[in-house]
Amino acid sequence: MELSIRNIRKEFDRFPALHGVSLDIRSGELIALLGPSGSGKTTLLRLIAGLEFPTSGAIFFGEDDASQKTVQERNVGFVFQHYALFRHMTVAENIGFGLKVRPRRLRPSAAQIRRRASELLELVRLPGLENRYPSQLSGGQRQRVALARALAIEPKVLLLDEPFGALDAQVRRDLRRWLREIHETTGHTTVFVTHDQEEALELADRVVVMSQGAIEQVGSADDVYDRPLTPFVYGFIGESSRLPVRVDTGGVWIDDRSLGLAAVDVPDGPAHLFFRPHDVELVEGCGGCIAGVVVSSRRVEATRRVELAVGGDRRIVEIELPADHPAALRSRIAFRPRSWKLFADAQAGREACAETV
Ligand code: ADP
Ligand code: MG
Repeated sequence: MELSIRNIRKEFDRFPALHGVSLDIRSGELIALLGPSGSGKTTLLRLIAGLEFPTSGAIFFGEDDASQKTVQERNVGFVFQHYALFRHMTVAENIGFGLKVRPRRLRPSAAQIRRRASELLELVRLPGLENRYPSQLSGGQRQRVALARALAIEPKVLLLDEPFGALDAQVRRDLRRWLREIHETTGHTTVFVTHDQEEALELADRVVVMSQGAIEQVGSADDVYDRPLTPFVYGFIGESSRLPVRVDTGGVWIDDRSLGLAAVDVPDGPAHLFFRPHDVELVEGCGGCIAGVVVSSRRVEATRRVELAVGGDRRIVEIELPADHPAALRSRIAFRPRSWKLFADAQAGREACAETV
């Protein structure tokens, strides 16, 4: 099922939780909504589900305007972080619940429902657990049963809101791989909400990066990491360093020193230079480079993380050096980022606001 989210605005007591969100989701796609807490991910998911209704804008399921339809009419399946299973029902009863409560003419027989529950338990790799109660399952097993329950109704769209959020790191990683495999088997159009970038980048066909009720960028894991379109995305996906600079006549400057970088399509005036701490090359004495004095250095796994004060000590940037680099305190280091991006301050300022949320 294709989904088209068209210019959605959602206000709660006049507070805009989403403004102007548009997104097309392809049939069979696994999409991740990724953003910090409060960015509007759950709100968008609940609007798709029909648990909330938009203040303005529309949501299409295929050719149908579903904006005013109920959850049941939309036929969506959910899994939430804390969407507990029914404690007094067995695993099989939990999975069959959505079928059992259908109107009589649409309801499969009790034997069919039991068979469907067993098939789904095979699919989620928990065969034979039909008669257990939720209290007799681990956290990871419960979330797998919750997914089986969501799939039982043969949903048009599967919606998952931080489904592994309450589980520990190793279980999360296992379930991530498992979910990807299930998705490849069943091919449901799936929207997965997470604030964990590793989870989003590993799992999804495309990632939707959200901040402050708006979409910042939609793209593959490569797109959002290698070609971030906004300061927020550069800062949020992967590690980044940023340096306040000035753009003048096509060049990038700190005070009266040129960094030897060409500023294309960035207006003259204050700007921020973004780069990845690991993606720098050291240079010997420089005409065009970034030079700074080591203010701190620490060993992190296979590398050394060094903070440099650049242009006086007002600007601190972090770079990553080989572990055997001495990086003595107060020594001078000059480098050049291998890849980088400039954002004029009007844009970078927005990100500074986003960070305080
Ligand atoms: P996320 O899932 O990305 O953490 P949410 O969609 O839950 O973000 O929330 C987005 C914003 O909308 C937040 O500022 C939140 O406080 C607000 N919000 C969400 N639901 C409600 C509600 N029912 N009433 C009032 N404000 C809400
Ligand atoms: Mg949420």
